Amino acid sequence: MAKTQKYVYFFGGKKAEGKADMKALLGGKGANLAEMVNIGLPVPAGFTITTEVCTYYYKNNHKYPKELKAQVLDALKKVEKEMGAVFGDPKNPLLVSVRSGARASMPGMMDTILNLGLNDVTVQGLIEKTNNPRFAYDSYRRFVQMYGDVVLGLKPKDKHEHDPFEVIIENKKHAKGVKLDTELTADDLKELVHEFKTAIKEKTGHDFPDDPMEQLWGAIGAVFGSWMNERAIVYRKLNNIPEWWGTAVNVQSMVFGNMGEDSGTGVAFTRDPATGENVFYGEYLFNAQGEDVVAGIRTPHPISELAKENPALYKQLDNIRKILEKHYKDMMDIEFTIQQGKLWMLQCRVGKRTGFAAIKMAVDMVKERLISKEEAILRIEPNQLNQLLRPIFDSEEKKKAVESGRLIAKGLNAGPGAASGKVALSAQDAEEMAKNGDKVILVRIETSPEDIKGMNAAEGILTARGGMTSHAALVARQMGKVCVAGCGALKINYADRSITVEGRDDVLIKEGDYISIDGSTGEVILGKLETKPSEVIQVLITKTLNPKDSPTFQTYNSLMNWADSIRRLKVRTNADQPDQASNAIAFGAEGIGLCRTEHMFFGENRIMSVRKMIVADTVEERKAALSELLPLQREDFEGIFRVMKGYPVTIRTLDPPLHEFLPHTEKEINELAQALGISYETLKAKIDSLHEFNPMLGFRGCRLGVLYPEITEMQARAIIEAAINVMNEGIKVKPEIMIPLVGHVNEFKLQEDIVRRVAAEVMQEKGKKIDYLVGTMIELPRAAVTADEIATRAEFFSFGTNDLTQTTFGLSRDDAGKFLPLYVQQEILPADPFETIDQQGVGKLVEMGTKLGRSSRPNLKVGICGEHGGEPASVEFCHRTGLDYVSCSPFRVPIARLAAARAVLNERTTKTTKSKATAKPKAKSAGKTKAKAKKKSTK
Ligand code: PEP
Ligand code: MG
Repeated sequence: MAKTQKYVYFFGGKKAEGKADMKALLGGKGANLAEMVNIGLPVPAGFTITTEVCTYYYKNNHKYPKELKAQVLDALKKVEKEMGAVFGDPKNPLLVSVRSGARASMPGMMDTILNLGLNDVTVQGLIEKTNNPRFAYDSYRRFVQMYGDVVLGLKPKDKHEHDPFEVIIENKKHAKGVKLDTELTADDLKELVHEFKTAIKEKTGHDFPDDPMEQLWGAIGAVFGSWMNERAIVYRKLNNIPEWWGTAVNVQSMVFGNMGEDSGTGVAFTRDPATGENVFYGEYLFNAQGEDVVAGIRTPHPISELAKENPALYKQLDNIRKILEKHYKDMMDIEFTIQQGKLWMLQCRVGKRTGFAAIKMAVDMVKERLISKEEAILRIEPNQLNQLLRPIFDSEEKKKAVESGRLIAKGLNAGPGAASGKVALSAQDAEEMAKNGDKVILVRIETSPEDIKGMNAAEGILTARGGMTSHAALVARQMGKVCVAGCGALKINYADRSITVEGRDDVLIKEGDYISIDGSTGEVILGKLETKPSEVIQVLITKTLNPKDSPTFQTYNSLMNWADSIRRLKVRTNADQPDQASNAIAFGAEGIGLCRTEHMFFGENRIMSVRKMIVADTVEERKAALSELLPLQREDFEGIFRVMKGYPVTIRTLDPPLHEFLPHTEKEINELAQALGISYETLKAKIDSLHEFNPMLGFRGCRLGVLYPEITEMQARAIIEAAINVMNEGIKVKPEIMIPLVGHVNEFKLQEDIVRRVAAEVMQEKGKKIDYLVGTMIELPRAAVTADEIATRAEFFSFGTNDLTQTTFGLSRDDAGKFLPLYVQQEILPADPFETIDQQGVGKLVEMGTKLGRSSRPNLKVGICGEHGGEPASVEFCHRTGLDYVSCSPFRVPIARLAAARAVLNERTTKTTKSKATAKPKAKSAGKTKAKAKKKSTK
């Protein structure tokens, strides 16, 4: 008989059926609950319904596999046994929570139901068990409220409508003449339960189910259903979580933190998630339920206070902290509840952290010998480095602002970095203002999952309520946004779109006014503040900080050194000026992969000569204009060669359509006409004649040098003369001359011949020899397809993936912005191909070009210099494809270095997995042979 598929995994007591590495099946929460049980931590018993059930549910018209029911009942029996209570029992009722749990955490995006199992009968059992009618009815009304909202759909219709349950509570408080929820008596709460149920029936037509089993299946269905709610969908898109992963559902025995003063609840991180510091970091509240801590309704106490308030409990918790870090070798985010003095662990997961903290923790953990350098590198997403390179406020300017009284309040430093922008008081406004090009700070009393789009659009987030683990703080950190949370002095008035500040009668902030927030200190400053470079930038670029005085820089530096010792791919930079080149070297660049010479043509004293060259009618005229440009270009190249000190420098000959340099305004045309001694009309006619319908596919790239060889001659001369001059100063030089937009080997040959002839002439004139290479960009599909022919002459290839993407897709780089975002939104394309390389299409051409090129020239040097060269996934692709280097903008060099090291490590993992996969059958067959041999011998 075929084995029935297992859909339900029990955990509790000392044994769990799941474990930490089963996240794909059990979701993160379920897998870690199981793991905590397995390592001996106290966890209320429960069971996890697998993600496969979710997938099944959506594939089969919201139905469950037929085996599920029996498996749930079976697991429930085990839970009852473990907890010594019975589901639906009038005397001794087991209450459960029902929560979602996807593979990756999606905080607050899906639904949760607590206290499930209560009805008018079981509530009596709870009263008897606890001897606390108020607590029992409070639990009951919370349950009916949550269930009514989540399962039965009684919720506000839009942002203007109040929560219907909260309205009933407010009315009740009013009728009873009390202010706080806590002042309502058991009888009041009992009445509320009844009123809630009546409202549900009236407004939704649903009867509230009394049968606990019906409640349970309703809740399970709602949690699976919430996988497809709008905010979960938006969140998945933002975080690249595939829909097919599905969510698991965890059903777990309730433990209560609100059973009196010996009960409580809290959330904590085993290290500081904002700074990465190795301190126990968290918050707790006595006599409260989990949501009270997270929702920001009551302000929780820092965990350090627990050490004083209840040293024994703190010790137990701190011990768990140590066990968890040692076991998981990572910073963990935990949720705990104390029920009548007993500590229970409700959740643990690898904690979300800022990029800044991620880097610090990973580097610290290597130094603490918890993890290896390789593991540290794999833990850091290359783009997180941005947070180390992020701007901070200029300290002088900030000091002045503070001295002049502009520091208006202080909140929690929830997401580091500095942000300045216009105040938006709703997520919708934030989105709209950002669309209009404004920098925005989203200011809310507190945020909720509905706000994520607005949070994403904002530079920074400021909230009046909530702690370090509030929604605003968690989500902002994950998005890498600057965030100040829980700034209680702010009085935010949504109705008249303004903010006042407690104790500061002189301050009135209106929506649209400028505000600045420092997410590293929690300070809120009135008005706009300029930002300034991070510590790493101060050490490396502005050189205003000594490396010894910057622990942040030291952390960065250790990480980068480890990455360099692992990576194979070289990292170069795209730079056209000496200062850019020297920045890039400071960031670790090992050469210039692309120097766009045309960028040098826009300088004040050059553009006129360039224009003369373009509109010249004869070769002589053109040569005369070019001779004005020669000394200027030579100087440019000398500057770059000096800075690059012997690193290879790839200089590209002129590439863009010529009309890009032409004057457009009447004034400019007149000036040029005068300089040329011709009439305005003649020049205008000439300019018009250069018009192209499709300039990107027109007279550009090597076609310029083919028709006007004197341009290539001048540039080759400038490069070789500069190289020899700098070499004469005792500095090593390695020029690589690159011909753009080659589609046919013959184009390359023509250009190469010019370069080699001129180089020989210059060397002859100067009486010096230098080594140089002549190569090409591969930017057209035809070049990739005929790369073997091109490589017979070209000494190196550099994939210009900007143009290659444009020409492969037939998609204009300049115009695609109108529809590409929609393509990505509707998942017609998985990502913007100008941002991350389209591996299946453009990538295939890169692979083909590299292979073909090396088939005729085995030592062909191959790189990439399109924008993709600094994008982590594309860098990994380049590594796998066997490129020699990537080249990217200076500030992305550290990101590319890290991505290149991760590529090596990921490749090792893939290889090991592959070899394990192939080794398995062998091992099996070996086993069989042994068994057979045994049989034989026994015979
Ligand atoms: C490219 O096409 O990828 C490239 C680097 O050249 P440009 O962006 O200057 O066209
Ligand atoms: Mg190009």
